[in-house]
Amino acid sequence: MPLMHFDTIAVHGGTHAREETTGDVAPPIHLSPTYVHSADSQPDHGYTYIRDANPTGEQLETALAKLEAGASALAFSSGMGSVAAALQALPEGSHVILPDDSYYGVRELASEYLPRWGMTASFVPTEDLAVVRASVTKNTTAIWAESPSNPLMKVVDLAALAEIAHAAGARLFVDNTFASPALQRPLTLGADVVMHSTTKYLGGHSDVQGGALVFAGSDEYSEAVAHLRKITGAVAAPFNSWLILRGIRSLPARMRVHCANAQVLAGFLAGHASVEVVHYPGLAAHPGHDIAARQMTGFGGMLSFRVKGGREAAIAVCANVKLLTVATSLGGTETLIEHRASSEGPGSRTPENLLRMSVGLEHPDDLVEDLKQALR
Ligand code: PLP
Repeated sequence: MPLMHFDTIAVHGGTHAREETTGDVAPPIHLSPTYVHSADSQPDHGYTYIRDANPTGEQLETALAKLEAGASALAFSSGMGSVAAALQALPEGSHVILPDDSYYGVRELASEYLPRWGMTASFVPTEDLAVVRASVTKNTTAIWAESPSNPLMKVVDLAALAEIAHAAGARLFVDNTFASPALQRPLTLGADVVMHSTTKYLGGHSDVQGGALVFAGSDEYSEAVAHLRKITGAVAAPFNSWLILRGIRSLPARMRVHCANAQVLAGFLAGHASVEVVHYPGLAAHPGHDIAARQMTGFGGMLSFRVKGGREAAIAVCANVKLLTVATSLGGTETLIEHRASSEGPGSRTPENLLRMSVGLEHPDDLVEDLKQALR
């Protein structure tokens, strides 16, 4: 079989385990938590207990590994479950470099729990390679990247970060949630581990929660993470795995519309008198535009923008929208908007006049019309 195109992998990558007795075209779902085994507890059919491994979760993992060009994958109950396992499996005494702009849960987890796990963290602007190089210590075992980042849409040079990590004997982890593998495949740029909140574009319909880690190679570290998932129990539920598998089949097609719509909205917002600045890597003025053009095949469906007039003016836009849904999260078919600092809460570093949007699959003209009347 020749090397397949990404769109084909997405459609067929998770449907390999056809039900032999019935010929189902859609993948089956296996809900059983336990499996018949031999008298001395050896798996007769490949499985013993749901938390160790289960067929629907494994089917999702096969699809995810193919999508990210990885050697193996682990499906988790949530994105944060996968982040926690990735960090907790690092050796004691590790120093971890993380972005100064990232999903706030990752920052909170790293600053609160890495010290409890006997590790240290530095939060730096990862788009500045000189600063990253200067932050490396003899104990650095991991560099964490998020590109584009949440919520400032910073873009980092993943291939360059991989070089810095490897020269230090460390691994590069990339949270690929915003881009999805349809637009960016960090393992092909030298990263060692890709992380996803599968709750977002992979699920694609705002109806499921999940997380994943995809590994470039199978080694002691990936085995340590698998063991940790089994012991701490953050494994993906079969029904959730099945929903994510369903989302994956239309991922490339959905991402094309997300990208096209976000580009239209970014252009509209950039020209609006009430908007201070738009953060979208598809705009030529974005500081990471050239890197994004090089390492992504599209600029994505996420954008943020700052409203003139501060916090109150930004919140008023959320109060005024009629078609857009005011909610957190991202990657579904519907366009979401939120006042990000309020969503993040007291520890937030996000500018008070910033609104974050997950641009959906509606007709872009309708989205522009709604924003026009909301940005009064
Ligand atoms: N990473 C990013 C970039 C996210 O946006 C999120 C959630 O919004 C997460 C990780 C955490 O994922 P989950 O909510 O599935 O735990």
